[in-house]
Amino acid sequence: MTKELREEFFRRWKKISSLESALALFAWDQETYMPKGAVSQRAEIIAHLNSVLYTLVTDPYFVELLDSIEEEGKEFARHARVARIVVDRYFKVPAKVRTSLAYSTTLAVEAWKLARKEGDFSIFEKELDNLLKLKKEEASCLKQDDTSLYEALLNLFEPGITEKVIDSVFERLIPKTYSLLDKYETNFASDKYSVFEYSPDKQWEAAAFFASAVGLRLETDSRLDLSTHPMCIAVTPCDVRITFRYRKNDFRSSVFGVLHEAGHALYELGIDESLFYTPLGKIISLGLHESQSRLWENFVGRRKEFWSWGFYKLKELFPFLEGGIEEWVKYVNQIKRSLIRVEADIVSYNLHVFVRYLLEKELINENLTVKELPTRWNELYKEIVGVVPGNVSEGVLQDIHWAAGLFGYFPTYTLGSLSAAQFYNQARKEITDLEETFQEGKFSVLLDWLRKKVHSRGAATLQEVLLDVTDKGLGVECFINEIERLISH
Ligand SMILES: [Zn+2]
Repeated sequence: MTKELREEFFRRWKKISSLESALALFAWDQETYMPKGAVSQRAEIIAHLNSVLYTLVTDPYFVELLDSIEEEGKEFARHARVARIVVDRYFKVPAKVRTSLAYSTTLAVEAWKLARKEGDFSIFEKELDNLLKLKKEEASCLKQDDTSLYEALLNLFEPGITEKVIDSVFERLIPKTYSLLDKYETNFASDKYSVFEYSPDKQWEAAAFFASAVGLRLETDSRLDLSTHPMCIAVTPCDVRITFRYRKNDFRSSVFGVLHEAGHALYELGIDESLFYTPLGKIISLGLHESQSRLWENFVGRRKEFWSWGFYKLKELFPFLEGGIEEWVKYVNQIKRSLIRVEADIVSYNLHVFVRYLLEKELINENLTVKELPTRWNELYKEIVGVVPGNVSEGVLQDIHWAAGLFGYFPTYTLGSLSAAQFYNQARKEITDLEETFQEGKFSVLLDWLRKKVHSRGAATLQEVLLDVTDKGLGVECFINEIERLISH
């Protein structure tokens, strides 16, 4: 392959990435500032852009260039592997299904927002039903003979992972989760800090402060905005935006939400510059992505050392906060089963994920209908989490994922939680006095380590990075040990 042809391949990849950037900006806009009335035209534009994307990726000459890159040997092997995963998916799923999905998810997200606001599942039901049919169609195009429909969707977020692996993770994790709950679930300090009102402006200030402290350069290569569901959207490698939401009486919702999304953004912003707009500049493992967000949210943000610095900053914004660090740390680490996944404590969190995993399998592999979904949700919440939502907004409508067509995404939260513990544990072994740096509000040592070990390499699977960095595969033990270390004092 000549140098010119190689350059042509990367030039075309950049064109594809640019179009994806435009779609990402639309997605961000829909979550933040898009006027409600814009939705139907926006859905059409997004469907059009997706069909252009399809044409670019499936262009026969582009595929020929990829074939040649694959024969180039080691130097380009990683690029070729990721590009092949992406291109194969395009060939398997016809343009019509892709554009219908793009159109339907845009409408479904708006219907979900309204349904959630009104507490009325019926507003969302038709859109979700339509989307579920399309997702099953997509899954049947993607699936191999020996895999389930659900596994095909799972692989969109974690290439190569099987249902069997996820089943075995939960089989080991869930009993240990209940043991931890037996040991640590208490009601202590439950109302101590929830009687105050934390003004939205000050919460915004605090959110920006903590996001900046851990290394996000707001206004330079990031932004912070409000949305119904907290999220991180990479528009370009130098423009990665996060959103958050707040509760008037519970400060934890905004601060931990922001630390989580900041963790995602730091990962995307840490990709090596030489990989921008190449196949390796595209993140392919959501489990790895979640490991980075959960690491900052939980293994940094819930530490006593973090708050021995952060609590004083917080008191400047909220002078009414009384008590010492000990009490505050107990409050932010309170273990108590609750209704909302993104606000769940570090132990019961995986029960929320497990419920969604079971429901998704029933919806995709079995015959659970959208109509039956709210009732089934409540049944499983009662059985597995031990709480029952009083309304659908706090129940089946709490997450944006299904509205956005993200079936198969949820298990990556548990993969991310487990591996976050493994990465953190390794960082502590390799960085002298790591946790002492948190006491000074300094996080650059950890961020530099993560950049070097994880972020800079760009596209990679969770398993390969875990093995490379920690010398171990995915496990449950390290997570349990790190949690005990975090909450037992
Ligand atoms: Zn996340």
